Amino acid sequence: MQRRTFKYRLYPTHEQAGTLEHQLSEARSLYNAALQERRDAWRMQRVNLNYYDQANQLKEIRDAGNLDLANFSACQDVLRRVDKTFKAFFRRIKAGEIAGYPRFKSRDRYDSFAFPAWGDGCHLTDTGRVYAQGVGSIKLKMHRPLAGEIKTLTLKREAGKWYACFSVVVGIPVQIPPPGAIGIDVGLYSFAALSDGQLIPNPRNLKTGLGRLRRCQRKVARRQKGGSGRRKAVRLLQKAHTHIRNQRSDFHHKLSQHLANTYGLIAVEDLNIKGLSRGMLARSVNDAGWGSFLAKLAYKAEEAGGELVRVNPNRTSQVCSQCGCLPDVPKSLADRIHSCSCGLVIDRDVNAARNILRLGLSLATVTWGNAPSVVAEAVCFS
Ligand SMILES: [Zn+2]
Repeated sequence: MQRRTFKYRLYPTHEQAGTLEHQLSEARSLYNAALQERRDAWRMQRVNLNYYDQANQLKEIRDAGNLDLANFSACQDVLRRVDKTFKAFFRRIKAGEIAGYPRFKSRDRYDSFAFPAWGDGCHLTDTGRVYAQGVGSIKLKMHRPLAGEIKTLTLKREAGKWYACFSVVVGIPVQIPPPGAIGIDVGLYSFAALSDGQLIPNPRNLKTGLGRLRRCQRKVARRQKGGSGRRKAVRLLQKAHTHIRNQRSDFHHKLSQHLANTYGLIAVEDLNIKGLSRGMLARSVNDAGWGSFLAKLAYKAEEAGGELVRVNPNRTSQVCSQCGCLPDVPKSLADRIHSCSCGLVIDRDVNAARNILRLGLSLATVTWGNAPSVVAEAVCFS
């Protein structure tokens, strides 16, 4: 069973758009009030409030007419969000990380409210609209069919547009995994390097998008705070962000689908094992999207009957994938070629990908023999 999200554009009437804004603003007020209460309780009495302490007050607050968020479960969901940020905050303190106290949310930073139980205050109507308590039946465009059992509904505002996000559970039929195994490394100069020697370039349109994003950022910075010109510039900036996110997501979907259909075993680096040895800074551009790419790859591999194995990335960029020896002088980030005394001369990221594949094969639950990685036909992803 897998959790999936289907996102559809909403077309509220002018009046509904106002109501959506109002509901969102009520959710945000509740969020900030709950945050305030926790801060005060901690500051004045050293008491750490939990979710139930706060949820038990909900009925009273609503009866007093101080909260206009229509669905009761949606109110609970807001409090659960506060609870989650505090739990994460205390976990970071415990782990000795930079804690960052939970912040109050401004209008621009609070962009969604959720119905945590499908059927409770929300449903799909016979006419193909989505009903949300407090707002009514909203027109939505189902550009692709919704599959699976709906669990929750989240209404989300993005760059001035509204979306309905349905979280569903889907069962996966058993599949015979495709033959072949591959190792993938996050590229320094390309998006990724494959153990069969392919370098997957970053999509070209991303570069154009990033240029536009920078221009928008400069525009916002030049505008006066609180002015209407700034608000317009911020809207443009959000649009640029959304556009890039969509492009990136599209690229990730296509590439991960192709890999999952071609290889039964896919080995990648385990992102949870941190180490600066690999020069994290230089990869920050790709790292930003790497996590979401892996998430897509993981479920697509599972659907195709394959397996995604995460390996410890430690030293994978240094060790020679042919003879297994470490170089006398470690490769610096500027060294793009792996050149070893055993005679192997290949791209540094391909060398790393080959090491990742070797580790992946040793960890796989199914024996892949020494499955030679099938050389895929050249596919253009950008
Ligand atoms: Zn070697």
